[in-house]
Amino acid sequence: MTAIAGGVLTIDLRAIVANWLKLDAMGGQTARCAAVVKANAYGLGAVPVSQALYKAGCRQFFVAVLEEAMNLRPLLPEDAQILVLHGLLPGTEDEAYGAGVTPVLNSVEQVRSWAALARKQSTVLDAVVQVDTGMRRLGMSADEWSKIADSDWSSIRVVLLMSHLVAAEEPENPLNDLQRRLFEAARARFPGVPCSLANSSGVFLGAAWHFDLLRPGAALYGISPTVGNSNPMEPVIRLQGRIIQWRRVSAGDGVGYNHTWHATVPGRVATVSIGYADGWLRSLSNRSQLMLGQHKVSLIGRVSMDTVTIDVSAVPEDLLQPGSLVDFVNKEHDVNAVALEAGTNAYEILTSLGNRFQRHYIDC
Ligand SMILES: *Cc1c(COP(=O)(O)O)cnc(C)c1O
Repeated sequence: MTAIAGGVLTIDLRAIVANWLKLDAMGGQTARCAAVVKANAYGLGAVPVSQALYKAGCRQFFVAVLEEAMNLRPLLPEDAQILVLHGLLPGTEDEAYGAGVTPVLNSVEQVRSWAALARKQSTVLDAVVQVDTGMRRLGMSADEWSKIADSDWSSIRVVLLMSHLVAAEEPENPLNDLQRRLFEAARARFPGVPCSLANSSGVFLGAAWHFDLLRPGAALYGISPTVGNSNPMEPVIRLQGRIIQWRRVSAGDGVGYNHTWHATVPGRVATVSIGYADGWLRSLSNRSQLMLGQHKVSLIGRVSMDTVTIDVSAVPEDLLQPGSLVDFVNKEHDVNAVALEAGTNAYEILTSLGNRFQRHYIDC
């Protein structure tokens, strides 16, 4: 393993596949399982992740923007469907058509422009229709979809009707049931069309939310879909930084920018090669527990752009060699734990991970 990069990010594709298989099994005989691979598969690599999931049997891949879809399309077999959550911005219809990707139509205008293109090409084009059941972010309102439900769909084949849950990670939240009922109403107006409502946490709400296609992202990547309960998913990443140097400190010495940490007794401080430019959020200053071998070590002082400092007073000196690896994220201290320390969610931890790690994939 070279020591050229500041850190090593190991991504376990076997764990991602195991997580997908688990969710797919939860869908039982009736619901298939897609994969949400937007934002470069939450930072972990849309291409290797999608290719591994295709091999496992996944055929539907959701991305956010057209560019992500166009990058992925040539790298997956023909029968993989690439679905673009943001749908069609005006003027992008030809590109979406040419690339062979499937837009999620979020407005009456998007339906009209896709239908117009289909007529121009004398063909029938696949599309997903998204209805808004409460998120108020993307999709057609009840007013809009009810107006167009009975209109002429002869040039568009609606391959999926979908909506998105607002608070699925809170099973007791009444919004879950409200959204499910609003979605049922839309479903009744699109008879025979497969339906999809559940993100990762939605899958765990139960079969009433499953419909025909599950749409998990987070849970595939080891993010806990059942907040507050034990995480049913396998951890996926290991993130390691390297010790660059260490020094002795005396009682009273301050460490790092603005001296937000002071030694109370004589000890040792090591500097490690991952900082906020790598996505190790500045809010983790003085707030994270890392691992050096079997030793728990505290992140002390401010997170810098390229480094953090750790208290290694209790670690034997022979483990402090420059180049030695320190675990930032591992099975015991996973992305969910880091999110708690940082005061954010694990989605932000994963998608913040930077581009200067040596990336290493554990293949299936
Ligand atoms: C991101 C996204 C998902 C996946 O959500 P997770 O909580 O990561 O499982 C599903 N559907 C839509 C519309 C999304 O934007």
